[in-house]
Amino acid sequence: MDFANNQSVITNGASQDTSPILEVKHLKKSFGDLHVLKDISLDLNAGEVLSIIGPSGSGKSTLLRCLTQLETFEAGEVRVDGKNLVVSALNEPIKYAPANVLREIRLSTGLVFQNFNLFPHLTVLQNLTLAPIRVLGIPREEARATGRRLLKQMGLEGKEKAYPCELSGGQQQRVSIARALALKPKILFFDEPTSALDPELTGEVLKIIKQLAEEHMTMVIVTHEMAFARDVANKVLFMDQGVVVEQGTPDFVFNQSQNKRLNMFLERFSRN
Ligand code: ADP
Ligand code: MG
Repeated sequence: MDFANNQSVITNGASQDTSPILEVKHLKKSFGDLHVLKDISLDLNAGEVLSIIGPSGSGKSTLLRCLTQLETFEAGEVRVDGKNLVVSALNEPIKYAPANVLREIRLSTGLVFQNFNLFPHLTVLQNLTLAPIRVLGIPREEARATGRRLLKQMGLEGKEKAYPCELSGGQQQRVSIARALALKPKILFFDEPTSALDPELTGEVLKIIKQLAEEHMTMVIVTHEMAFARDVANKVLFMDQGVVVEQGTPDFVFNQSQNKRLNMFLERFSRN
């Protein structure tokens, strides 16, 4: 399946529509006196992958939570697939778009969590069909057919009747990726998708994400797997203390940048 073409954005050169599917400008977010995101700007084209790296506490999860509407923020502009999340100007008090627009934007983004967050009392297939049926109003049989197709794509054929507790962490994470895909998001966000996994299970999840990248799924991936961050991405962004310290191509960020904070961070990882 070609996700980018699915979204009617043609990435094979036939279309000249080059406006980014995700645009963030001067986003700021505090928790009380703690300025967690100080001034974040980024953009991403449809069909591309952005890796976000940076030390713990630098604001990576908060950024994903702001972009997927799990958190509000105080200032900035966010545009998803041409729709503005915020309708106020940059220097005015923030005003969010009307509820129907927020919902549309929310439905065009999906988030895969570190700890899977599957519904423990539902089977694998029920986990995949609940939101499509309840939120999108998709007929039950159609939702089940899509769920089965996604399970096959994730290498989880035969697991549809299993409960999450009967699966390995790697399998649970693949179910949660399938669950996010079942809502047909235009952008899929991952927050450290392999951090809760035993090392021998990390590879199977990274392989699925790589496969999605090859199919031109637009993705933003927060990860501490540096080799993966470099190999899967079209762009890499390094965050520290709530600011974007460096961003560019994987080759620039991993091999060429002279930025001290970035290089200290990368050195720490290569020593581990
Ligand atoms: P990262 O994902 O890069 O490790 P986070 O976005 O989780 O960073 O956190 C950034 C900072 O914001 C940390 O100092 C964290 O303690 C703080 N923080 C995150 N969520 C909350 C919250 N709900 N309330 C207060 N502080 C928070
Ligand atoms: Mg985090």
